[in-house]
Amino acid sequence: ARKVRATRAVDSFSEKLIQANLELPSLRFDGNEQQFYRPTRLREVLDLLRQYPEATLVAGATDLGLEFSWHTRAFPVLISLEAVAELKTLNQTPEHVEIGAAVPLSHVEENLRGAFPSLDEMLHWFAARQVRNRATFGGNIGTASPIGDLPPVLLSLDAELRLASADGERKIPIADFFKGYRQTDLQTGELIVSIAIPKTLAVGAVRRVQQSYKVGKRGTDDISIVAAAFAVDLDEENKIVRARLAYGGVAAIPARAIAVEQMLEGQLWNIETVQRAKSWLKDAFTPLTDLRGSAEYRKLLVVNLFEKFFVEMTERDGDVAR
Ligand SMILES: Cc1cc2nc3c(=O)[nH]c(=O)nc-3n(C[C@H](O)[C@H](O)[C@H](O)COP(=O)(O)OP(=O)(O)OC[C@H]3O[C@@H](n4cnc5c(N)ncnc54)[C@H](O)[C@@H]3O)c2cc1C
Repeated sequence: ARKVRATRAVDSFSEKLIQANLELPSLRFDGNEQQFYRPTRLREVLDLLRQYPEATLVAGATDLGLEFSWHTRAFPVLISLEAVAELKTLNQTPEHVEIGAAVPLSHVEENLRGAFPSLDEMLHWFAARQVRNRATFGGNIGTASPIGDLPPVLLSLDAELRLASADGERKIPIADFFKGYRQTDLQTGELIVSIAIPKTLAVGAVRRVQQSYKVGKRGTDDISIVAAAFAVDLDEENKIVRARLAYGGVAAIPARAIAVEQMLEGQLWNIETVQRAKSWLKDAFTPLTDLRGSAEYRKLLVVNLFEKFFVEMTERDGDVAR
């Protein structure tokens, strides 16, 4: 709507969009068996969560909507986050970016382009534009799906989550956030406020190679069979200072291949190292077989996507694969 607003109305629909008030007011709806709140300030959300500890948060509703329409689940108290000012900010400093939990993905896509190439790539393959206009980072993390596409990217970039409840705030690395299948470290009355992604390299590193990959049955707009995101920080001698290899679709939670990361550190970033890493990665996860892909196929993807990453990065950068 913001874009259309800058253009001339060509029909009655675009006329309405141009005149639309984009600031959502606070709203409350009392149904017989359902209450809906749409506060505009974080403080109000926290007070509501204290009052209704079992309330359900809803942001873009692209996940939760299926619970209504498909599973006909009832939610006695719903708290919408889409008008909460503090959750809709996108801040950048030289050290990091901080993405408000309720910022739509398409807004991040447009305003952060170039900052994190692996995030750009994953957002490109994430659903369709209509969904990205609604879907949020908070929702993708909060739903804790093992095949959510953003957690692998955020894991590979060492993102940190800011959580808040009526009792105060705390920060947690995303690597510690997912506890089990669809379980997170979020406590009752707590929500995700923002996601901070550091821009700085590991100490001693002079450059980073990073990329993400999504493998699905369809080319676009499909659920991942496996999603992977890699970030490797290199020193002047092309040695690996820090490696992050993160995957979705291979375990009950989005997960890093931590043992392999540790083995990579201190090694030269070359084809021999990658070949060794492939043999370590072979047994890094024990994925399940489901209708999208077999366990064997997923294990193969874990290994081969990392090699693809190396080949693509070295070709792009003109590195010699020593
Ligand atoms: C057609 C379609 C295509 C899709 N394609 C993809 C895809 O390619 N990749 C992918 O990963 N997903 C995909 N999804 C799933 C969905 O779009 C994403 O998971 C999205 O990021 C959810 O965000 P949301 O704001 O809509 O979450 P909601 O549906 O509003 O909420 C999801 C869950 O997160 C919780 N939550 C929301 N915000 C917070 C917060 N701030 N703190 C704590 N908990 C919170 C809610 O309580 C709820 O449990 C798709 C969905 C549809 C319908």
